[in-house]
Amino acid sequence: MIPRIHCLACACLGLALVLIGAGATDASPTASSAAEPPLRLVFGGDRSYRPFHYLDVDGQPAGFDVELFRRVAREGGFEAEFRLGDWSAALAALEHGEVDAVPMFVSPARARRFAFSAPFLSRYHLVFGPLGADHVPRIEALSGRRVAVQHGGLGWEALRGVDPPVTIVPVAEEALALEIVAEGKADFALAPTSIGYLAIRERGLADLVALSPPLLDRDYAFALAPGRPDLMQRIDLALAEVRRSGELDRLYAEHVEHMLAGSVPREADYLRTVLLALPLLALLVLIGLLWRGARRRALTEAQRAEQEASSRQAAEARLLHLAFHDPVTGLPNRIAFEERLAPLLQDEALALAQAELVRIDLPGLEMLQTLAGPLVAEDMQRVIARRLRETEALHGLASLGRGSFALLLRGTSEPAGKARLGALIARVQQRVELGELVLAQRCRLGVARFPAHGRQPAALLRAADMACLVAQEQGQPLRVYEPDMEPDPRDLTLLAELREAIAGGELGFAVQPKLDLRRRRFVGAEMLARWTHPQRGPLSPGVFVPLAEKAGAIGEMSCYMVQRAIGLLRQWRESGLELSLAVNLSGNDLEEESLGELIASQCGDCGQRLILEVTETELMREPRTVLRRIERLRERGIGIALDDFGTGYSSLTYLRQLAPEELKIDRSFVATMRTSASDRSIVRTSIHLAHELGASVTAEGVEDEATLDLLREFGCDHAQGFGIARPMPVADFLDLQPRQGGAGRLRRMQ
Ligand code: C2E
Ligand code: CA
Ligand code: CA
Repeated sequence: MIPRIHCLACACLGLALVLIGAGATDASPTASSAAEPPLRLVFGGDRSYRPFHYLDVDGQPAGFDVELFRRVAREGGFEAEFRLGDWSAALAALEHGEVDAVPMFVSPARARRFAFSAPFLSRYHLVFGPLGADHVPRIEALSGRRVAVQHGGLGWEALRGVDPPVTIVPVAEEALALEIVAEGKADFALAPTSIGYLAIRERGLADLVALSPPLLDRDYAFALAPGRPDLMQRIDLALAEVRRSGELDRLYAEHVEHMLAGSVPREADYLRTVLLALPLLALLVLIGLLWRGARRRALTEAQRAEQEASSRQAAEARLLHLAFHDPVTGLPNRIAFEERLAPLLQDEALALAQAELVRIDLPGLEMLQTLAGPLVAEDMQRVIARRLRETEALHGLASLGRGSFALLLRGTSEPAGKARLGALIARVQQRVELGELVLAQRCRLGVARFPAHGRQPAALLRAADMACLVAQEQGQPLRVYEPDMEPDPRDLTLLAELREAIAGGELGFAVQPKLDLRRRRFVGAEMLARWTHPQRGPLSPGVFVPLAEKAGAIGEMSCYMVQRAIGLLRQWRESGLELSLAVNLSGNDLEEESLGELIASQCGDCGQRLILEVTETELMREPRTVLRRIERLRERGIGIALDDFGTGYSSLTYLRQLAPEELKIDRSFVATMRTSASDRSIVRTSIHLAHELGASVTAEGVEDEATLDLLREFGCDHAQGFGIARPMPVADFLDLQPRQGGAGRLRRMQ
């Protein structure tokens, strides 16, 4: 199918070019470029700036910047030539107009020398140094130290501005800076995140670690020879199109994924198709507009009025369609589905006895969107919608948005019903091929039965939603609704008791150790709330945390936990234990001023060791407010860990803005990574992505040695899980620490 579309697009493109060549005059870059000889633009840069631009083993230009420039060239209608070599020479060549574009960080000094395209990335540097060296919270802390850095690079520029001065040890390539540190010829290296991590892995510099938060947060753009506003406009237009199409994010994710695997991604066929089709679409729109203009002039007043009325009707019909259909799949949405179901359930009640309303969620869709971009996620939904249409005994199908679907299936007897659902899961989970991407998609089902679980469409849908939610909470692929799933009225009493326990300081907690995979020792722990109810015994946080969230009591709980964490960190520090402690935040915590204030005012110099775990979904609720709060917390050295990564929803752009210090890969991916190739790929990609964002990465839910080995091989930094250590009392955790620095004395204080 896809190759056929591709051929069709090529043929149409050929036709489009012939038509344009035959006389259309158009100011658009693509159209004019076909009439004139295409402009040749020379891309310059460093031969060894992996994974951004470099010469591969065959001496061919490769990397994210190179691929992006190729796309931009294609979009802008010019030819691209690549000249990669020495970095300083590339800068000089750009200044002398011998090359046209060099991708680089934007800095004020550079902006005085060159013009810059719109930025296409935000990137960071990190300070790397030996294991055990002091944390470097900001660049000024490098005063008086020997720091290796690439001559002429952004890091070099920044270090030259530090007062009292840094002893700069200049090197020719970014990656060499780390080697110099490993050889003891410099104390630290300052290098871009991905390049530093790549050097550590590829050059076997296992004793080097990142010691700073992300520094020099800078835009990354094409520097262009000055005095060429025409060129800048053309490149910006083409860049905007490449970004809008989702191609930029996808390309970036692909290169992060392939960076450590050592292979260069091939472009997906269907993307090429889309890009090739763009000029054609532009042409068709143009022809349409010209045709419409000509028609308008020829129309009489009456005809015009009639035509306007009909186009208004068409617009209204389209709006109406949008109001009742999902824009991605074209399927009826929830409102339309309920309307359709109502008469069906009434008139055909008998035929539909024991009918099943099935809700299907695609839990990996958000991850796919984050890593591969919205276009791929949309394609995936369309493929799944097509598969669902083929379901046997289907009586109705709807899209509930964000990768959730609802199906009404005619009644059947057991065990045929069970087999039918099993087949449905198998069909949805079959591999999906999108161009050259081969993806496995997991799904989760919630089932409600008619009429036992509701006679009205809304009640049935709600029951299926509830069953799906429980399936998610329990990590199961399928749950059939049960009345027990409904919230318990006793919850209100429980909530009052929880509040009392918090106020009375009776809420307990366990700590789960976090293992540093390279140093093979515990570097900190995560606090997990524990509550033993006076009558009901120990309750899982899975019970009382959601309750506190729903009832608005979570702020009190979070304040309590943060205070306990700060207290512990103080004690540990006084005893010479340099351990970090992570606290789980939730819901509106970061939207509220109070918690931020509490942390800022109480943490003192413990901020460096305090980590706040938040999930993507929570962060996305009020992204701007949350980003502002996080900035303030960062000023105190507090780190942000993105919890349950892979289960929430966030775009790469947002992740880059947030720049978390740590990414915690959700245990649902880690638990199955040994047996599932797609989960393994998600874990590996997440690790690279985290490093590219300047974050360290923790794998959660490690239950066996083999998974641990795999994570080490993938370059994962930290791990937690029952296979390493279960959540335990603080005293037991301290017993695990090497017997030094007063841990024994401290143990007795707990
Ligand atoms: P989480 O933050 O993802 O915490 C990890 C959960 O996974 C913990 O469950 C932990 O016991 C469990 N776990 C750790 N390793 C493994 C493993 O190898 N296999 C399996 N199957 N499970 C493992 P726990 O303590 O029941 O906590 C559940 C959730 O409750 C936490 O998930 C967190 O979202 C929430 N929670 C716990 N304490 C707090 C708290 O103080 N505040 C807030 N807001 N939420 C909390
Ligand atoms: Ca957590
Ligand atoms: Ca987690």
